[in-house]
Amino acid sequence: MHYSVFSLMKQALAGHRGWGPAWRDAAPKPAYDVIVVGGGGHGLATAHYLAKVHGISRVAVVEKGWIGSGNAGRNTTIIRSNYLLPGNNPFYELSMKLWEGLEQDLNYNTMVSQRGVLNLYHSDSQRDAYARRGNAMRMHGVDAELLDQEGVRKLVPFMDFDNARFPIQGGLLQRRGGTARHDAVVWGYARAASERGVDIIQNCEVTGFLRDGDRVIGVETTRGPIRANKVGMAVAGNTSKVARLAGLRLPIESHVLQAFVSEAIKPFIAGVVTFGAGHFYISQSDKGGLVFGGDIDGYNSYAQRGNLPIVEDVCEGGMALMPAIGRVRMLRSWGGIMDMSMDGSPIIDHSPMPGLYLNTGWCYGGFKATPASGYCFAHLLASDESHATARAFRLDRYATGHLIDERGVGAQPNLH
Ligand SMILES: Cc1cc2nc3c(=O)[nH]c(=O)nc-3n(C[C@H](O)[C@H](O)[C@H](O)COP(=O)(O)OP(=O)(O)OC[C@H]3O[C@@H](n4cnc5c(N)ncnc54)[C@H](O)[C@@H]3O)c2cc1C
Repeated sequence: MHYSVFSLMKQALAGHRGWGPAWRDAAPKPAYDVIVVGGGGHGLATAHYLAKVHGISRVAVVEKGWIGSGNAGRNTTIIRSNYLLPGNNPFYELSMKLWEGLEQDLNYNTMVSQRGVLNLYHSDSQRDAYARRGNAMRMHGVDAELLDQEGVRKLVPFMDFDNARFPIQGGLLQRRGGTARHDAVVWGYARAASERGVDIIQNCEVTGFLRDGDRVIGVETTRGPIRANKVGMAVAGNTSKVARLAGLRLPIESHVLQAFVSEAIKPFIAGVVTFGAGHFYISQSDKGGLVFGGDIDGYNSYAQRGNLPIVEDVCEGGMALMPAIGRVRMLRSWGGIMDMSMDGSPIIDHSPMPGLYLNTGWCYGGFKATPASGYCFAHLLASDESHATARAFRLDRYATGHLIDERGVGAQPNLH
């Protein structure tokens, strides 16, 4: 069913009784051309682009729970392409361009809202670092503006500018950054992929890999074995567990990242704001809730819930930046499992085993990458060649030393 103003009017007049399910909840078939493990944003986007761009629609997306039950439905929805390094910058800008056309592409309202992402700086050296980042972005054709304190004050007047422990000196603004509704992104990709013949198989956990020697020729699941010419893994925080089923040990650690939502208040923050003197970022949802987060929990875990020290740490960051939110009540918080890579950048590559392909290492920044990740992973699965913008995301860079160390902290995921 094509969504349009006319279909909406027709349904409105008919009491909204004629809407069909947005996608088919399929049962597994014995074999596919490609199986994508993981029904998050990346897995579903991969299936969509496999079908749409490469004409490969004998594809199954196999999800152990329900689609969007992982990080895709748990993130703070920020999208941006304000990256410094050549390995990252063109890739995230490809993603931003895909976001900008996504609603038309999917015929689905994913609520892409380019309301701006502002990174605050609090010292001269931090200003210089942001100026450098902004220049790198502009050299790659990405929009960036360096604001002084007055420029920031115009955008977000409620911050603590003058009496703060870390006074705000200015900020780096990417106006094209913003937010997108995460569930809608999952549902939109699922609907578009399903319409092109992709099977979306929920409640189907991959428990092992079918092998012919070294070659992976399918998956064992809780709903029986399924064969495939190629198997792509897009299981985010579960990567090390699923890779272990194939006997692989990857340079990934799993950590919890928490998110928080407050009660709804009147419009307070226009876009996304990040604190430069601590790990805290915030935006306001269309319903009025403040949506915010900070650092990962400091230990490895596969639990999708976090602990109290980080709650305190995040709230302290918020209070340092904008004491005005001190009396706002927190409504809820939750956690997701991050696949932290050893240089903070992703991996989209062949695995060492023929027939098995990897999409992982998104750390806490993979939502914004969803369209480009799916696009480039589909390219790799279809052609066996890395897409030009994802060529740097090789697995062997940890052996060869070609790290993409965006944060400049070295191979220390606990510091990312
Ligand atoms: C609190 C929080 C805030 C975040 N904020 C942002 C943000 O603002 N901006 C941003 O860019 N990124 C953000 N992220 C990161 C982003 O959400 C992730 O990097 C991204 O969603 C990961 O890709 P995915 O959507 O495919 O993952 P997921 O949605 O986690 O998909 C993986 C799927 O694989 C399934 N799976 C796992 N094991 C198996 C198995 N054995 N068999 C079958 N299926 C399996 C899981 O159930 C899951 O549904 C945030 C993450 C969290 C948790």
